[in-house]
Amino acid sequence: MSELFNKAALRDTVQKYLSEAEKSLEIKSIDNEEIRTEIKFLLKQKNAVLVAHYYTEDAIQELAEETGGVIADSLEMARFGANHDAETLVVAGVKFMGETAKILSPEKTILMPTLEATCSLDIGCPIDEFSAFCDQYPERKVVVYANTSAAVKARADWVVTSSIALDVVEHLVEQGEKIIWAPDQHLGGYIQRETGADMILWDGACIVHEEFKAKGILDLKTVYPNAAILVHPESPESVVEIADVVGSTSQLLNATKNMPNETFIVATDRGIFYKMKQASPKKRFIEAPTAGSGASCRSCAHCPWMALNSLEMLRNALRDGSGEIHIPEETRLKALIPLQRMLNFQR
Ligand code: SF4
Repeated sequence: MSELFNKAALRDTVQKYLSEAEKSLEIKSIDNEEIRTEIKFLLKQKNAVLVAHYYTEDAIQELAEETGGVIADSLEMARFGANHDAETLVVAGVKFMGETAKILSPEKTILMPTLEATCSLDIGCPIDEFSAFCDQYPERKVVVYANTSAAVKARADWVVTSSIALDVVEHLVEQGEKIIWAPDQHLGGYIQRETGADMILWDGACIVHEEFKAKGILDLKTVYPNAAILVHPESPESVVEIADVVGSTSQLLNATKNMPNETFIVATDRGIFYKMKQASPKKRFIEAPTAGSGASCRSCAHCPWMALNSLEMLRNALRDGSGEIHIPEETRLKALIPLQRMLNFQR
């Protein structure tokens, strides 16, 4: 095949991909007025506030904004929930986020649209195996990502989110500490390369971010040479290496506001496009390809567990008190120590 043919074929593939992707990225207006009204009423009646993650559907993010709640990454969700004086926090996200809210605010009722919404990192780090792993290296500090169960947090010295992980590990390196890191091997590897820390990594991965492909992103870049590539560090090293910015969801969102580029190729869950488009309506956001060698998309960069959150289930949780988070007090008290350590460090 000639060079010309390759370019044309590539352009075709990319355009086809984009026309599909952009359809799904439009900020959808909510058509179910009845449920929206009911949720707003119930939030007031139950003295509740909605705490939503960036990866939840547009309709939930819209509602959080309209009702004085928050849309945030997991660190900010935890802080917002702990500081808010509502009696009930409705956490739209995945289970570890609800558990984190409960650990920090035991006096509050924590509801989730569904307790089925979990995370491949949480599932891939069961407490018994992890605890036995840690026991092999008693001289090391145990640093776990927020995407873990309350029991795993209770086994840790530090809990970190992706927005604070680098700073915490740099701090530990300065103190001469060696580290056990869990569960995300890609984020752990990125931190290791950036800080030079002595780290032993658990081998978990995020099923969404692990799917981004450097080849597909570079193909897109040939069509949009002025686009900036934004990458979440849960992605593989080959993807992180070609990024213009590597960061947590909040850091990537800030990059789209602050960088002069008009086009961004974004390698994280496409739920973040709601806030990116809202903050910079004239800029163009392109979903990074997740599979295939020619900028095609198979899994479409959306967390299947985040997608379980729906307006209907949110309404049911508020109305019926379903999806309540409970944590044994002994576990909660142990998990509170490394979580509080992170929040104090952040201050
Ligand atoms: S996007 Fe990945 S890390 Fe985030 S909740 Fe889903 S599976 Fe877990």
